[in-house]
Amino acid sequence: MTPRTTKALALLGAALLLTGCGGVGDAARSEGEAGTVGIAMPTQSSERWINDGQNMVAEFEARGFGTDLQYAEDVVEDQVSQIENMITRGADVLVIAAIDGEALGDVLDMAASSDIPVIAYDRLIRGSENVDYYATFDNFEVGVLQGQYIVDALDLENEEGPFNIELFGGSPDDNNAYFFYDGAMSVLQPHIDDGTLEVRSGQTSMEQIATQRWDGSIAQSRMDNLLSAHYSSEDVDAVLSPYDGISLGVIESLRAVGYGTESKPLPVVTGQDAEAASVKSIIAGEQTQTVFKDTRALATQTVDMVEALLAGEEVPVNDTETYDNGVKVVPSYLLEPVSVDVDNYHDVLIGSGYYEESDLQ
Ligand code: BGC
Repeated sequence: MTPRTTKALALLGAALLLTGCGGVGDAARSEGEAGTVGIAMPTQSSERWINDGQNMVAEFEARGFGTDLQYAEDVVEDQVSQIENMITRGADVLVIAAIDGEALGDVLDMAASSDIPVIAYDRLIRGSENVDYYATFDNFEVGVLQGQYIVDALDLENEEGPFNIELFGGSPDDNNAYFFYDGAMSVLQPHIDDGTLEVRSGQTSMEQIATQRWDGSIAQSRMDNLLSAHYSSEDVDAVLSPYDGISLGVIESLRAVGYGTESKPLPVVTGQDAEAASVKSIIAGEQTQTVFKDTRALATQTVDMVEALLAGEEVPVNDTETYDNGVKVVPSYLLEPVSVDVDNYHDVLIGSGYYEESDLQ
């Protein structure tokens, strides 16, 4: 069977399946003249991915596409079978934010044999030649913004310290986690080397600091352990956190041992995604910083790429060097992240219409 006939059969199967479609729970499907886009998202436990899914569906539908949006709640096998189903139902293109970036090789082979192009969304899919494009933010820069925020907040260019810092990393199966870590360490390592920053736990490698599936409760337990083992007589001055859910877990842990008072202030705590709970925490003076990545812009960028791809036009990319997935360098479009704290959240988040004032009360 040729790829084309496979696809024709898949389309027929999809037509038969369509009777039962609609917005059901975490899966929603719609039809459109311009083709159908399968959108595989990792989880609804984090607000950012809910926004990503909604923004893409709205933008694709506005441009005449049908969508097939699925969330896999961080279960890798479920994401694989959701993508298989998208292929069987006749998706014309796949947009995938992987849970485990290394686990999609077989299902992407299946997509390729049905001539279905694939765009990696936000997270690079590794170890497969069947990834056509990558739409994301400048992930190294995200880490730089977090590290630089700590350097500036502690005034490390003028103060000698030593200041105590602990480091948290993202999920070890997410390629982004290494970029965030490398970006942050490019700024922090010189200060660790010259002694202005001290990591009392000694845990500085990605292996030691990673947080499986970005889980805030895992980070909270690790922080509990770090505090009881290394901070009975000293305070923590800064915590590098790569993601808002982790930041809130770390803050819970700190508060449980008495941080957050005038005599024992919370350390500088970074974050990422500008999730509402974390922006509220920033306004309340708990979390210190986050990195805003405008999911509306990423959705628009992805829709532009899909439109060009399906029309056989040149797909917009601005980086053809950075994202090697182990098999090939995936042509990418990188958007700019923005550091947000209590001084600029209003301008950046409310001023841009990302949040209403009432979302943050
Ligand atoms: C994304 C981040 C997010 C993290 C946890 C990463 O791949 O780039 O924006 O904070 O996953 O969901």
